[in-house]
Amino acid sequence: AKRQGRDRLQIYTPMLSEQTLAKVRLAKELRLAVQQAQLTVFYQPVYALRTGRLSGAEALLRWRNQAGEWISPADFIPLLEESGQIVAVTDWLLGRALSHLRTWRQSWPDFRLAVNISAISMQDRHLVQSVELALQRYRLEGQALELEVTETAFIRDPDKAGLVCDELKRLSVDLAVDDFGTGYSSLIYLKRFAPDRVKIDRSFVVGMVNSQGDQALVRAIIELVHSLNMTVVAEGVETQEQLQLLREMGCDYVQGYYCGHPQPLEAWGSVVPNLFTH
Ligand code: C2E
Ligand code: CA
Ligand code: CA
Ligand code: CA
Repeated sequence: AKRQGRDRLQIYTPMLSEQTLAKVRLAKELRLAVQQAQLTVFYQPVYALRTGRLSGAEALLRWRNQAGEWISPADFIPLLEESGQIVAVTDWLLGRALSHLRTWRQSWPDFRLAVNISAISMQDRHLVQSVELALQRYRLEGQALELEVTETAFIRDPDKAGLVCDELKRLSVDLAVDDFGTGYSSLIYLKRFAPDRVKIDRSFVVGMVNSQGDQALVRAIIELVHSLNMTVVAEGVETQEQLQLLREMGCDYVQGYYCGHPQPLEAWGSVVPNLFTH
C-alpha cells in the first residue's frame, strides 16, 4: 500500500509542478506588466434604481499582456496579493481613477466612484494615507469615493481592519461590503464596521428569477440592510426581469451587463445617463 502511495505521488508531482510553473511564469510576466504599465482601469456604470439615473461607476483593474490577451482579474489579483504588489498597484489605481473622477464630477457633480480594496490592504494604515493623498491631489471630497471590501477583510484581524475603517470614515469615504452573502457573512461585521452600503453578490441575482429561495434571500438582505440605515446595490444584473424584480423589492442601486459593461474611459460616451428614459 505504501508503494502504491508513492507511485501515486510520482504521477501527481509532475502535474503539480506544471501548475506551479505556469503560476510562476504568470507572476513573472505580471511583475513586468506592473513595471511597464500594462495595467489599465475599466469602469462599469452604477444606476440608482428608483429614478434610473446614473449614479457612478466601479473601477475594475484590467491586464492586457504583451501578446494582447486579456488576463482575468480572478487570475492575476491573487498573484498581486501574494507578492505584495497589490499595495503599489492600488496606489497607482487610486491616483488614476481619482484623476478620472475629478473630470467626471465636472460634468456630473454627484458622480461617485467605487474602488475595490484587497483584504490585505485593510490591515494597514498605508491605505488611509494613500486615499487621503489622492483625495487632496485631485481636490475631491471623501463622499465622492467608495471603497469596496469583502467580508474576508474583517476576518483576518478584525481589530486592525476596524481601525483602518474608522480612519477611512474620518476622511468621509464611504465603505461598502462586497460580495455580501458569499464568504463568511456575519451580522457582527455589519454592526462593527457599519458600512454605508452592501453589495448583494451576483450569484443571488442570477438565481432570483427561478429560485424562490434566492428571491426570498435577496428580499431579506434588502430589508435587513435598510433596517440598518444602509443602502443596497445588486450586482450582476443581466436581464430586464431581474431589474424589475429588484425594483419592486426596493433595491437602491443596480450594476450589471444589462445596464452597462465595464469599459475604458474612452468608451464612456456610450453609457446612458438614465436607464428608463433613453
Ligand atoms: P467584483 O468586485 O465582485 O467585481 C464584479 C465583477 O463582476 C467584475 O469582474 C465585473 O466585470 C463582473 N460583472 C459585472 N457585471 C456583470 C454581469 O452582469 N454578469 C457577469 N457575469 N459579470 C459581471 P472582473 O472585472 O473580472 O473582476 C473580478 C474580481 O476581481 C472583482 O470582483 C474583484 O474582486 C477583483 N478586482 C477587480 N479589480 C480590482 C482592483 O482594482 N483591486 C482589487 N483588490 N480587486 C479587484
Ligand atoms: Ca467590487
Ligand atoms: Ca462584488
Ligand atoms: Ca465577486
